[in-house]
Amino acid sequence: MADCVFCKIRDNEIDAAKVYEDEDVMVMMDAFPVYKGQTLVIPKSHVDYIFDLDDGLYQKTWGVTKRIAKATDKAVKPRRTCIIVEGFGVPHVHIRVNPLQQGQYLTAQIGSEKADVNELKKLAEKIRGELE
Ligand SMILES: [Zn+2]
Repeated sequence: MADCVFCKIRDNEIDAAKVYEDEDVMVMMDAFPVYKGQTLVIPKSHVDYIFDLDDGLYQKTWGVTKRIAKATDKAVKPRRTCIIVEGFGVPHVHIRVNPLQQGQYLTAQIGSEKADVNELKKLAEKIRGELE
C-alpha cells in the first residue's frame, strides 16, 4: 500500500532499526517508544486488522512475537514483557512488545519523543543476540 509507513519500511524505503526479518514477518524497534526495548512485530502483508490475517500468518506472527518477547526478557531484563494490539495509528497489523520495568504500567499511548535511531539499532542488536 503506497502511503503505509510499515510497507515502506518493509520495502527499505524508510530506515528502521530492524531486529528480525523472514519472508513473512519483520520486527523493528518502535521509533516512539514508551518503554526501553519496545518493538513492533509486523506481518509483511498489508492487512489492517489482525483478525483478518489468514490463519497461517496469524499463527506465525504470534510465534515470532513469543521469540521476540523471550529475547527481550533476556536483553532488557524487564519485570515482564507485555503485548498491545490496537493499531489505530497505522492501519497495518503490528503487535507491540513492551518490556515493563518495576513500577511501570502498561499504556497504549505513543512515546512523546522519537528515539535516536543509533540507540535503537544498538538495542535491536542486543535483542537479536538473544533470539533463539
Ligand atoms: Zn502496510
